[in-house]
Amino acid sequence: MESKCSICPRRCGTDRKISVGFCGTGADIRAARAALHFWEEPCISGSRGSGAVFFCGCNLKCVFCQNREISAGGGGTVISPLELSEIFLKLQSAGAHNINLVTPTHYVVQIKEALSKLREPLTIPIVYNCGGYESAEGLEILKDDVAVYLTDMKYAESALAQRYSGAADYYETAVSALKKMLLYAGAPKYDGGGLMQGGVIVRHLVLPGCRHDSIEILHRLKAEFGTSAFRLSLMSQFTPTENLQNYPELNRRITSFEYNSVLDAALDLGFSDAYIQERSSAKPEYTPPFDLTGII
Ligand code: SF4
Repeated sequence: MESKCSICPRRCGTDRKISVGFCGTGADIRAARAALHFWEEPCISGSRGSGAVFFCGCNLKCVFCQNREISAGGGGTVISPLELSEIFLKLQSAGAHNINLVTPTHYVVQIKEALSKLREPLTIPIVYNCGGYESAEGLEILKDDVAVYLTDMKYAESALAQRYSGAADYYETAVSALKKMLLYAGAPKYDGGGLMQGGVIVRHLVLPGCRHDSIEILHRLKAEFGTSAFRLSLMSQFTPTENLQNYPELNRRITSFEYNSVLDAALDLGFSDAYIQERSSAKPEYTPPFDLTGII
């Protein structure tokens, strides 16, 4: 795996000891922020915050990414697995409800090593927060450690997935991954305070001009999994970024009509406990500063 990486569905075969792969990362862990984070779903953020570790790099690199400054793989600081294990414990001591691994996909081997170096146990759940483009082999590495999967389901149509993420096989790959996640984490479980202790949240960000694709995703998910196997989170916070000259159709926020039509479809299909966002709810805090000041 280290000499010919195939840990994610890109299977780009890079020797990460001497080069960086499609995900923009080599063998070293690069992280841009580790801090209490209050902008996930309420069952993850709770009152004290989620202990989020934002890793640099990404195996999708969506053209509209809100975290572009770190998803390309640059920035951040190199930390060892031992240092990462210390960060986990500091976040736990700071009161985090969970350890929230933000796009761990390309670092599962290193995270497993960090977890093996903990000098005291983690008593809070580990959240695997990813874009949904996961391999079975990658997910298996952390299956005994992860309690909650917070995963995306971005596209149904392969043409959209190819255009915006260069991953024509996104939907099939993400559904296969979701099956693994449901197998490993089971049905949603909460503590007495409503914090998720196990299970899967499936996030979907509604994109401008793509409401039909969003509704298609909901129909497919219901047909495949029903409406109670996971918790649905419908997101409206899409915000155009500066690099979208070649994607003019994405150069606007979504409309109320677009979001409400997707929401209505979700409710009609029976996703009655879905998390929903006010369309005007995009806040700068959703994208925290990745300036190294946030390494706890
Ligand atoms: S994790 Fe990175 S290096 Fe490994 S296969 Fe995926 S894109 Fe390539």
